[in-house]
Amino acid sequence: MAFTLPPLPYAYDALEPAIDKETMVIHHDKHHQTYVDNLNKTVEANAELAGLSMEEMFARMSSLPRAARNNAGGVWNHTMFFDGLAPASEAGAPSSALAAAIDSDLGGMDKFMADFNAAGLGQFGSGWAWLIVQNGKLKIINTPNQDNPLMDDAAEPGAPLLCGDVWEHAYYLKYQNRRADFLKAFWSVVNWNRVNQLYAAAI
Ligand code: MN
Repeated sequence: MAFTLPPLPYAYDALEPAIDKETMVIHHDKHHQTYVDNLNKTVEANAELAGLSMEEMFARMSSLPRAARNNAGGVWNHTMFFDGLAPASEAGAPSSALAAAIDSDLGGMDKFMADFNAAGLGQFGSGWAWLIVQNGKLKIINTPNQDNPLMDDAAEPGAPLLCGDVWEHAYYLKYQNRRADFLKAFWSVVNWNRVNQLYAAAI
């Protein structure tokens, strides 16, 4: 019944040169694993969490202990992040439906990428940039810490399609303080096939 760490859906070095192997090893095997371990400890220590899925926790997040927010968010957001990436050769492209929505809702692909990066760059401290569907339209948002748009008290709720991790551990080994360069490289390894699937399901 305990939560387990999902394996990376590609090799640790599959996202090079955008994201280096060492960063992926530490990010997945250490950071993501630690959120899984701490989520299991949190569930053991709080009877009200017994048997809940992460999504069920998010739906009542504001009434649960802070540790549930940090650790369930940490586990779920990292799975979303890693699944949202793919080797450049397998990354695909936005579907015609998604591309049309990017044009109408976000002002086109270039503006979408620039605004997503600005959301990541503008997130003070640690957090995430997100592409979500909100009321049937695409929207770019950011969240602090391990918060996400599924939480009942999210300032900008919605269905997540893609997320960018802007915690320093996501990029520091290769990019040091250059979060903007990391976010630029991120686009070469976005798993559009998955974003297309999530968009179709959300609409
Ligand atoms: Mn991370």
